[in-house]
Amino acid sequence: MSGRWVEVAQGVYARRYVELDQTLGLVVGDTHCLVIDTGTDEVHGASMAAAVRFVTPLPWSVVITHAHFDHFFGTAAFLPTSVIAHERCRTAILADGERQRRAWSARYRSDGKAEQAERLASAKLVAPMEVITSSVLMDLGGRTVTLVHPGPAHTDHDVFVHVPDADVVFAGDLVEQGAPPSAGPDAHVSDWPAALDRILALNPAVVVPGHGDPVDAAFVRRQRDELARTR
Ligand SMILES: [Zn+2]
Repeated sequence: MSGRWVEVAQGVYARRYVELDQTLGLVVGDTHCLVIDTGTDEVHGASMAAAVRFVTPLPWSVVITHAHFDHFFGTAAFLPTSVIAHERCRTAILADGERQRRAWSARYRSDGKAEQAERLASAKLVAPMEVITSSVLMDLGGRTVTLVHPGPAHTDHDVFVHVPDADVVFAGDLVEQGAPPSAGPDAHVSDWPAALDRILALNPAVVVPGHGDPVDAAFVRRQRDELARTR
């Protein structure tokens, strides 16, 4: 599964994929690195892991931004390591992961994507073992990042990653470029603009969405206003 790196700041990378127009993330410190989301299945996860190893040999931790299948079914490729998420993300992966696997495998099959369906069907489901409730600092060596739950929005357990020394935020699916934000049955649309205000309050130079190309704060502000209008 091929992807391409976009270096959005020094040691801060977005990994772009054609499938689902998805974007995974990497923040590299002096002693550790942090991988943001793990992809649609173990093959995807393994290709991300190999791409990370092309950038850095440092030990990694993994953060899962939320419990939608394309963000966590690649986690097994990164083990053993600590896998961090909001506590309700862990609950949702355990409660709903197998249903998502069945639904998306069926969808891939009916779209004629048999190989992709098989990969998802055989991926190991890994529940995050380290949970956060509001926010937590992570020291990567010479660089500290913050994992923040901004309240209910795209789901009730989204986590974004702030890299303050680089003015970068990895937003997960709180922000989407190239398509409107995806508001499924588990979204909290009326609360979503306030979650984006939490990101905007950090004055980010670059915001990396869960799908699409990196954007600026003005893009996020427009998306916030659109969500506020449609709620
Ligand atoms: Zn999502």
